[in-house]
Amino acid sequence: MRIVLLGPPGAGKGTQAKRIVSEYNVPHLSTGDMLRAAVLAETCIGLKVRETMESGQLVPDTLVLAAVIERISQSDSQRGFVLDGFPRTMSQATAFDDLLVTEGLELDHVIELHVDENVLLDRILTRARETKEGGGLVRPDDNYETMKVRLDAYNRQTAPLVDYYRSKSL
Ligand code: AMP
Repeated sequence: MRIVLLGPPGAGKGTQAKRIVSEYNVPHLSTGDMLRAAVLAETCIGLKVRETMESGQLVPDTLVLAAVIERISQSDSQRGFVLDGFPRTMSQATAFDDLLVTEGLELDHVIELHVDENVLLDRILTRARETKEGGGLVRPDDNYETMKVRLDAYNRQTAPLVDYYRSKSL
């Protein structure tokens, strides 16, 4: 089973991905998690993307693509995968299509999670407050100003993918 989850920040892609992967026994591939791990480990990619991620903007397509290609080539992804947070731009979507063709693979489903923007903002700010109160590490992009940038990036760069995949009957 190969699934792409589309949806703005706070829509619940991570939550739904966890439920789907446990049902189908496939890995959960979150580009946000991959990039955060790279930032934490201070790898070459991590050092390049840290500031952009903290600003709420999208990191360059080539860096994300490299990470996805590497992850999809691993043995557990041969069973399928749930992609969470990728593709996020038209150019990532077309490059991903090329990769799938090269590998002889097809997507089964693309699922869009649709949530009202006020609810998204409220959820993210609540997540940040509760994490802080619990003594946890709050994501540097979980605040009002950066959330506005993330929502804008979604509306401008990612939302068009809904029609793109709809036109492919996915
Ligand atoms: P997420 O955890 O999916 O909300 O992603 C957190 C941040 O990682 C985003 O705001 C972007 O800066 C970066 N990011 C994650 N996935 C992508 C992607 N497919 N393309 C570009 N940037 C991404």
